[in-house]
This record gives sequence, C-alpha cells and structure tokens, in this order.
Amino acid sequence: MKDGQVVWDGLVVSLDYVLKVDGEVVDTTRNEGDAPIQFIQGAGQIIPGLEMVLQGMIIGESKKVLIPPADAYGDVDPDAFEMVATREFPPSIPIKVGTQIEIRDESGETLMAYIAEIEDDQVRLDFNHPLAGKELDFIVEVVDLRDATEEEKVHGHVHGEEQDEDRG
Ligand code: ZN
Repeated sequence: MKDGQVVWDGLVVSLDYVLKVDGEVVDTTRNEGDAPIQFIQGAGQIIPGLEMVLQGMIIGESKKVLIPPADAYGDVDPDAFEMVATREFPPSIPIKVGTQIEIRDESGETLMAYIAEIEDDQVRLDFNHPLAGKELDFIVEVVDLRDATEEEKVHGHVHGEEQDEDRG
C-alpha cells in the first residue's frame, strides 16, 4: 500500500466488522477463526451505505455507523410474500417460522425465501432479504488496502489467496 492511501474506488479493502440489528449481533468477522472480508470498493459488492462510509478511511481507522434501510437492503416489499400449501413442501423441510427455503421459479432461477407465518395448512413465504426494512448498526475497521490486480479489475471481484481456481 502507498503512503497516504485511503479507501477509494477500485482498491481492495480488507474489512473487519460487527453488525447489530435491533441490538443483537447478527454478523461479525471477529469470531475466532474468522478473517476480514475483502471486496473491491466501488464495485457494488457491499451495501451502498457501507461504501459511502468507508470512502476516504485509512488503514486502522474504525467507525460506528447507523445505516438506514434505503442504503442497505431496502424496505420490506409487501408484495414479496406468497401463500403456499404445506403439502407442497418436501418432508425434509421443517415447517416452522424462520426456515429458509430455496425455490426455483419458472425461469429456473433460484430464489431464497423464509417461512414468515404458518396458518393452518398454509405457510406465508417471505421473499424479502432477511435484513430488509432494518437499520444496520455497524462497527467497521479498515484492516488493509491494496491495489486490485489487472485480473481483479476486469472481473470486478477479489481473487483470494486460498482460491486456486478462479470461479469467475
Ligand atoms: Zn475472477
């Protein structure tokens, strides 16, 4: 890294974070054995609110920020719910609130949904992102910065050291 380098578009950022939602830690890189996440700043790999906060930060700097839904996973879309009969589910899927389900739509695309509610012999599936509508309470720390390689710039993502084969 160059002297005076700050987080900027096109740089590979290594980031430690703790994410709290409604006062509870829902995600962190600070568990034992965890490594910082790496991404290319400005490439849209993380939520926009976090990119905005990080822009201009230096290595070792940390910040505590609240990111509103509009700059995170958006508001809850009331149309992104669907009632499905319980008998449509394979027996391997536990019918209980919170169960995550992969659903293939007509075009063959895989969608993620959660069981939001159970009503008699039907369940209400929620296709919203689990953090939609939530304010995200982040502590972030910039651990490292480096230039992206030519290949990473072309691909728009980071190539990890342990990744022998490029997946795309
Ligand atoms: Zn690649």
